[in-house]
Amino acid sequence: ERMVEIERFEGEGSYEMTLRPSTWDEYIGQEKIKKNLRVFIEASKKRGEALDHILFFGPPGLGKTTLANIISTQMGANIKTTAAPMIEKAGDLAALLTNIEEGDILFIDEIHRMSPAIEEILYPAMEDFRLDIIIGSGPAAQTVKIDLPRFTLIGATTRAGMLSNPLRERFGMHFRMQFYTPEELGRIVTQASHKLEKRSQKDAAIEIARRSRGTPRIALRLLRRVRDFAEVEDEAEITLKRARYALDELGVNNLGFDEQDIRLLELLVSAKNKPMGLSTISAALSEDEGTIEDVLEPYLIANGYIERTARGRIATQKSYEHFKLGGMKEGLF
Ligand code: ADP
Repeated sequence: ERMVEIERFEGEGSYEMTLRPSTWDEYIGQEKIKKNLRVFIEASKKRGEALDHILFFGPPGLGKTTLANIISTQMGANIKTTAAPMIEKAGDLAALLTNIEEGDILFIDEIHRMSPAIEEILYPAMEDFRLDIIIGSGPAAQTVKIDLPRFTLIGATTRAGMLSNPLRERFGMHFRMQFYTPEELGRIVTQASHKLEKRSQKDAAIEIARRSRGTPRIALRLLRRVRDFAEVEDEAEITLKRARYALDELGVNNLGFDEQDIRLLELLVSAKNKPMGLSTISAALSEDEGTIEDVLEPYLIANGYIERTARGRIATQKSYEHFKLGGMKEGLF
């Protein structure tokens, strides 16, 4: 089983919901984004206007959906949540947009996966709060214009690069999510264990944090597993010893790399400074290109283990040193 992975496990939805922060204070890190958003929210409330459309981009699990929910709470607005692949027909989008009220928030996840035909309908909706729908076909076709309430679209994407320019430009605010520091993730773990009524000792929380690929969703998932180990042992608190034991059992190494990360690094190191193309990597790891680009690479790039060049990906000196030092012996993970 792959522990440091991104897809939500079945049954973890409600666990995430319980732990999802609902206030700015509980939302740890991303300080710049928080500061900006608070100003924009305050200003639009003062003017009594809907908030400008907002785009969040960055790897999965960093808190985009959570931010959208906090914004809706702060604006005192309703939020409707969907994902682009679920909007298949013009009618699907029309149904969503005609059911919202003044000031409401429409959150569309994976917005880079929106079909071009749907995007066309979204443009006037975002810009002029107007829906142009074609009814019928052939010579009898008619365009019906429907006025919409002023709403706020919040889009989230793992890939800003895959968004079309016209769509990107229609968002008034763009925010790039950052990976979290171990200290921030440690606070997230501490806060979550409080809510779960199973306290984590500080060093244990930091240990879980260090192994979470800079990602709250992963930290919370690992916390859940470590808590299971502590519970089986009838321990009242999560200790460093138990955390280490559990994380080792789960095969999470102390840089937060999981098996796929290590396979990718090994592959690039074995290429001996020759850049490797995405399709080659994809074939070698039996992992699709999108997952490699959106999930695997961002963390390794942000931490200086690999580089993207025009000719492909290469391992950095840091990766070579890591292997030489024997930190990643075969079979260790
Ligand atoms: P994304 O939408 O970017 O994939 P989510 O907003 O669903 O990520 O976040 C995943 C989980 O991590 C949430 O359920 C939430 O509990 C937790 N989380 C994310 N960001 C933070 C944060 N800044 N502070 C505390 N918890 C967070």
